[in-house]
Amino acid sequence: MSRFFSDKYDKLTPYTPGEQPRDRQFVKLNTNESPYQPSPKAREYASKAAENLQLYCDIGCIALTARLAEMYGISAENILFTNGSDEALNFAFMAFCDASHPAVFPDITYGFYPVFADLNGVPYEELPLNDDFTVDVDAYCGVGKTVFLANPNAPTGIALPLSDVERIVGSNPDSVVVIDEAYVDFGAESAVSLIDKYPNLLVTQTFSKSRSLAGARLGMAIGDESLIRDLNTVKFSTNPYNVNTLTQAAGLGALEDDAYFRQNRAEIIRNRAYLTSELKKCGFITTDSSTNFVFAKHPDLDGERLYLALKERGVLIRHFTLDRIRDFNRITVGTRDQLDILLRNIKEILGGCL
Ligand code: PMP
Repeated sequence: MSRFFSDKYDKLTPYTPGEQPRDRQFVKLNTNESPYQPSPKAREYASKAAENLQLYCDIGCIALTARLAEMYGISAENILFTNGSDEALNFAFMAFCDASHPAVFPDITYGFYPVFADLNGVPYEELPLNDDFTVDVDAYCGVGKTVFLANPNAPTGIALPLSDVERIVGSNPDSVVVIDEAYVDFGAESAVSLIDKYPNLLVTQTFSKSRSLAGARLGMAIGDESLIRDLNTVKFSTNPYNVNTLTQAAGLGALEDDAYFRQNRAEIIRNRAYLTSELKKCGFITTDSSTNFVFAKHPDLDGERLYLALKERGVLIRHFTLDRIRDFNRITVGTRDQLDILLRNIKEILGGCL
């Protein structure tokens, strides 16, 4: 830290993203990216848009917003596009949390929430997940704080039914409830259908996973017009040009190619079932994943040892050091070929289990 670094950040521990090694070719199953390229239409639109990069981008993401509004049957005023959904989440911490509106989220969830809270000087409480890693829904009902819930949750992969989400939102009418739906397309019920009913509900989604655009950085916040106006106040006070021209074009192409999206999603869901059943045959315990990753532990193999042994063999998965989950690893669902390489290596490490 330099002597110039502001006191307000001197205790900040930044988020640790998954490894992105450039030195060696890994089978990369550690950051929940899609194993499939972006839609050809996304690539075509982005390359056409490159012709106009001398101009600033459209600050209102007008074409993209109109398309999503039509797809979701909502109005453009209900949507804000952001630089990845991380930015939407940070904007939500900035807009809806402070000393009198503390944040609350599970003890095991997306590791960026406490970082955003600390960055913005927001006090927060972490509510323990149940022993089976499900969310303790009653603990959030009437909690009276700004709620952040990933649904499905990460890294557990477990989804809450929409009725439970609604119970939480409905019981906190004076607090914003943010539902982070980064993985919703892989099997959970979206809360977007509830935004008309609950002015305190904000949903965030991303193009990084199911639409193969992690590198483009495109996310969105969806909610009541007044919440979106507040987020726009924050956006226009930080970075009005937050979604660049290439990304807007790629996003539009991805939205227009629904068949490609559906086909890849179906393949990932099939591969998830395959990975889960093969891991179980090897003695792993897994959670019930509604995402594009599987959260698994082996009773006889330390989580960190497995992660390190696989890394040595050129396969990357994600290990977390948090106490309650240190025996687990989070494995992104890749192509069938990638999964077969992973499974072969796991079996060798375990000394052959089949
Ligand atoms: N929420 C959760 C639960 C995530 O796992 C991620 C991905 N790291 C994000 C939000 C943010 O994704 P992005 O910024 O790429 O949209």
